[in-house]
Amino acid sequence: MRQIIFATTNKDKVREIKEILSGLDVELIPMQEIGFEGEIEENGTTFEENAAIKAEAVAAFVKEHKPEYADAIVMADDSGLEIDAMGKMPGVLSHRWLGERTYTEAMTDIIREMKDVPEQERTARFVCSIAAVVPGHKTYTLRRTIEGTVAHEIRGEGGFGYDPFFYVPEYGCTTAEMTSEQKNAISHRGKGLRAMRDLLLFESLL
Ligand code: IMP
Repeated sequence: MRQIIFATTNKDKVREIKEILSGLDVELIPMQEIGFEGEIEENGTTFEENAAIKAEAVAAFVKEHKPEYADAIVMADDSGLEIDAMGKMPGVLSHRWLGERTYTEAMTDIIREMKDVPEQERTARFVCSIAAVVPGHKTYTLRRTIEGTVAHEIRGEGGFGYDPFFYVPEYGCTTAEMTSEQKNAISHRGKGLRAMRDLLLFESLL
């Protein structure tokens, strides 16, 4: 059985990746379980860099302090929102860019700033990069996205973060109006996790 340590403290991400890996001979281990409590400075300029920084920091901790997990794969993700009319901001700064504001306040500000931006220029995407540090191999990274537009109003109670104003034209709703199953099936993170699972299977690493 392959052990995969996931570098996140987010319970929703752990649940999502458990669902995606179900059926494989894999044991998923959240990073708190191995005793990693350090702060990781996400100072990369791309989603890939930040995902690799997180995975490599936890892999270094495992190497030094947890020899019993020496064969485990360490995975991490990094995600965010790119708004084309804002030069792809907030991007890798998606969380920090809030400052003191709540998500509702930040989304309200963006909707106001973009009130004259025509429909075809309101394009945006959620981006997710997944990194996997495999002992004895290179660090694998990949990126997946979900395309949408910035809505004119906040709608929906589901999801988190910027979901209530991320409108997906094919589905006629925001990602906050989807069930978590619907969102996982089409989201940047769901696609990224499944792509990494398939890549590792292809390389016979799972
Ligand atoms: P991280 O990958 O956990 O660092 O997330 C970065 C930030 O991007 C989050 O705090 C949210 O602001 C935003 N974000 C990433 N994925 C989503 C999503 O699926 N919905 C809404 N916001 C998201």
